Amino acid sequence: MNYRDLDRKLWDAIAREEKRQAQNIELIASENIVSQGVQAAQGSVLTNKYAEGFPGKRYYGGTEYVDEVENLAIERAKKLFSAEYVNVQPHSGSQANAAVYQALLQPGDTVLGMDLNAGGHLTHGSRVNFSGKLYNFVPYGLNLETELLDYQAIAKLAREHQPKLIVAGASAYSRLIDFNEFRKIADEVGAYLMVDMAHIAGLVATGLHPNPVEVADVVTTTTHKTLRGPRGGMILAKEKYAKKLNSAVFPGTQGGPLEHVIAAKAVAFGEALQPEFIDYSKQVIKNAQVMAKVFNVSGLVRVISGGTDNHLMTIDLTKTGLNGKQAQDLLDTVAITTNKEAIPNETLSPFKTSGLRLGTPAITSRGFKETDCIEVAKLILRVLAKPTDETELNEVAEAVKALTNAHPITR
Ligand code: PLP
Repeated sequence: MNYRDLDRKLWDAIAREEKRQAQNIELIASENIVSQGVQAAQGSVLTNKYAEGFPGKRYYGGTEYVDEVENLAIERAKKLFSAEYVNVQPHSGSQANAAVYQALLQPGDTVLGMDLNAGGHLTHGSRVNFSGKLYNFVPYGLNLETELLDYQAIAKLAREHQPKLIVAGASAYSRLIDFNEFRKIADEVGAYLMVDMAHIAGLVATGLHPNPVEVADVVTTTTHKTLRGPRGGMILAKEKYAKKLNSAVFPGTQGGPLEHVIAAKAVAFGEALQPEFIDYSKQVIKNAQVMAKVFNVSGLVRVISGGTDNHLMTIDLTKTGLNGKQAQDLLDTVAITTNKEAIPNETLSPFKTSGLRLGTPAITSRGFKETDCIEVAKLILRVLAKPTDETELNEVAEAVKALTNAHPITR
C-alpha cells in the first residue's frame, strides 16, 4: 500500500488544498508559489538530520553534507543581498526577529517599531506578541494626510524616547522605505537600526527596492514572500554582529536547524540570482500598479497613500459599506483570496477592519500579466459593488475560473 492509501484522510485534505491553490486567484501579499526544486528540497531526506550548531561546528556527527547545503544557502544569500554575514537557520520571520532582539536588547529596553494598525508586524511590538511583552516598544504610524511614513515624526519620537533599537519594515506598506532616513534617526539617538524586509526581500534582491543591508546594523527577512522560497526566516548583518547573532539563534532561541528548509532556501536563492527573477519581480510591481490604478478611478474604493511602488496595496472599503472581514469572505465565495487589513485612522476592531490587503507575487508566478490584473481588479470591484447579487457573483466566479484555467500553476 502506498503512503497515500495508508492515510487517505490527510492526503485527501492536501489534494483539496492543491486544487484550491490551482482554482483560486491568490492575492494574499505574503504568499507565493514555489518552484518544483524548492518543494523537492523541502521534501528531501534532509528532514531526517539533526545538526545543532553551524557549518564546521556541529554538536552531531554525520553533518558533512548538510554543512555543504547550509554553506551554499549562506553564500548565495550573501551574493544576493551583498551581505557580510548571513544566518539561514531562523525557522520563520518571527524567530529571526526574536533572535535579533535577544542579541541586541535586554528585557525592558525601549524600541521604536511600526504600529500594527499602520502596517507593522506583530513582532514589531504588538502587545499580544512576545515583542510587546518583553520589550518597551513605542509605536510609530503614518502621516494621516499623506498615509506615508513620516520621518520627522519618527525622529521626534526617537528623541523623546531614546530607543536602543529602531525597527523599520512593514507587512502592509505600499511605498518605498527610505532606510537612509531611518539610519540618520538611529545615529542621532545612538540606536541600532534593524530592518525587517520580509515583504520586499525579492524586490531588494533584484534591485527594485533600495537594499537595507547597506545601511542597517541588522536585517531580517522571511524567505517565502516576494523571494519565493520555502516558509522560513533569515538574518543578514555586518560581520561585527556575527557572534552575537549566531548565539542568539542557537542556542539562544532555537535548537536543531531545519536543514531540509535550508536546502530549499538555497534553491530559491539560486533561482533569485537568475536574470529571469528580475523580469518576474518587475512584473510583480507592474501588476500591482495597474490594479491600483483601476481601484483609484473606480470611485468605490481607494488605495491607501494613493498607489503602490511594490507588490502590494491596501484598499479602503469605507464607501462600499462592507468591512474588511465581510469583503474577504465575499471574495472567498468567488475564489479570490485576500485578507482584511486595518487602514490609517482605523475605527473597527482587528477582527473586522475597514480595508483589504492585496498583493501580486503569487498570481505573477503563475503568469498573470497587466491585462489579467486589470481584469482581476475589475472583478473585485464588481463583487464589492453588488455583494448580494447572485447573478453577478456567479458571473465573477466564472471569470475567475477562466483566468485560472488560462494560467495553470506550472512548476
Ligand atoms: N516580518 C514581517 C514584516 C512580516 O510581514 C512577517 C509575516 O507576515 C513576519 C515578519 C513573520 O514571518 P513568519 O510568519 O514567518 O513568522
